[in-house]
Amino acid sequence: MSEAVTFSNYINGEWVQGASGEVGESVNPARAKEVVGRFQKSTAEDLNQAVQSAATAQKKWRKLTGAARGAYLYKVADILEARTDEVAEVMTKEMGKTLPEAKGETARGVAILRYYAGEGMRKVGDVIPSTDAEAFMFTTRKALGVVGVITPWNFPVAIPIWKMAPALIYGNTVVLKPASEASITAAKVVECFAEAGFPEGVVNYITGSGSIIGQGLADHEQVDGVTFTGSDGVGQQVGQAVLARGGKYQLEMGGKNPVIVADDADLDLAVDATISGGLKSTGQKCTATSRVIVDQAVYETFKEKLVAKVSELKVGDGLDSDTWMGPSVSKGQLDTVLSYIEKGKEEGANLLFGGRRLEDGELGDGYYVEPAIFDGVDTKMSIAQEEIFGPVLALIKVDGLEQAIEVANDTKFGLSASIFTTNIARMMTFIEDIDAGLVRINAESAGVELQAPFGGMKQSSSHSREQGTAAIEFFTEVKTVFIKG
Ligand code: NAP
Repeated sequence: MSEAVTFSNYINGEWVQGASGEVGESVNPARAKEVVGRFQKSTAEDLNQAVQSAATAQKKWRKLTGAARGAYLYKVADILEARTDEVAEVMTKEMGKTLPEAKGETARGVAILRYYAGEGMRKVGDVIPSTDAEAFMFTTRKALGVVGVITPWNFPVAIPIWKMAPALIYGNTVVLKPASEASITAAKVVECFAEAGFPEGVVNYITGSGSIIGQGLADHEQVDGVTFTGSDGVGQQVGQAVLARGGKYQLEMGGKNPVIVADDADLDLAVDATISGGLKSTGQKCTATSRVIVDQAVYETFKEKLVAKVSELKVGDGLDSDTWMGPSVSKGQLDTVLSYIEKGKEEGANLLFGGRRLEDGELGDGYYVEPAIFDGVDTKMSIAQEEIFGPVLALIKVDGLEQAIEVANDTKFGLSASIFTTNIARMMTFIEDIDAGLVRINAESAGVELQAPFGGMKQSSSHSREQGTAAIEFFTEVKTVFIKG
């Protein structure tokens, strides 16, 4: 590998080093000794400069037409598309997902940019009939101002873009603080924004610790809105800090997503969707399947088919063309997964398959774990309640749809949920009774189209929605205008 590059912050249209002069290292989870790149460990002073530059730029940026702002997003889309191979390779090296998945995510980023570029030409308000015959009433929208964007490492291209693109198109300027474990991939995305020639200060990127830079964004009086995706503990903290100073916040957090397999399900379809939804990206998706709730009538057959297929999956470096599942993102994440596997056993679940760390002699020093399947899981066990964020499937046996939905709803999360059934009445009952923002029928729990609202219920979300036209609700505020003739 060539010498690791040190990336600077991007503030006011320039790449600048942090005030502390200290840098952090982002390592390849497939080869723990390989440094993918270095990022600035920024200070509160650096953050303040980024926020000031965004605040100054916003005064002019919001005055551009939506079409003019959209033209910049179209340019970023073209640049990112042309750099897909490079960006995807950095993503795979930095956080471990396979190269095809990384390319797919980059393509998604391009599509999101184009979608929101087009939003600049669409409606922003409604005409509302007044009861006064001499008056005209309508709504219009105002950008929030400066938006702080705090993102996780698991979708290091798509998530920053699905927050930044709508923020920018509606007239906000942004300060992006990516996850430290994906700072280098985020820098590649920001290079595309820089190359597109945005006016200085419209897009800012600053790296460093969550507790200094992330918390600093949440606390900063000049940051009008904070959009956060990450774990629920950190999210609640961010939300409280923004609320305390009267700002606006949006939180997208964890999941413990169930798949229900009814007795009339197409079992092969359900098995394939459970594997894809639960284990792709090494189970590190907020919408990943983690609980598999199977009717007792088909439980044994489903279990056999699932184990047979999972045992064939190839774990390895995401850059290798025959790898199906890459490593966990970090040593910390690997240890969390392994500790949940131990906890599952201690609490009485039966480890049916996998769950071993794959190390020296097998796969070098990468953070690899075999996919794990637990049988005999009770809904109160830790592995059925807490987000693991790893390749661990918990099988729960139930008797009928009513019990299945009761079990599915028995967690604090409510992000995504699937059912496999061929019966329309059961589908309708599921749609009606399931506590989930994303309701999926005969489809895996992970996955959502970019033009549709995305978000969760209960502790998975602050109850707003991202993506599609829903994004305008967070990134703008409504003005109701009354004109007396
Ligand atoms: P995380 O640890 O909560 O970190 C998320 C972001 O918050 C990172 O940029 C992190 O910076 C920053 N941060 C950490 N401490 C902070 C603080 N005190 N104040 C403000 N910001 C702080 O989450 P993660 O491990 O990166 O991501 C995994 C989680 O994201 C999972 O729970 C997953 O379900 C969730 N997720 C949800 C969705 C969704 O749309 N619902 C999508 C993807 C992921 P550092 O990296 O520097 O610590």
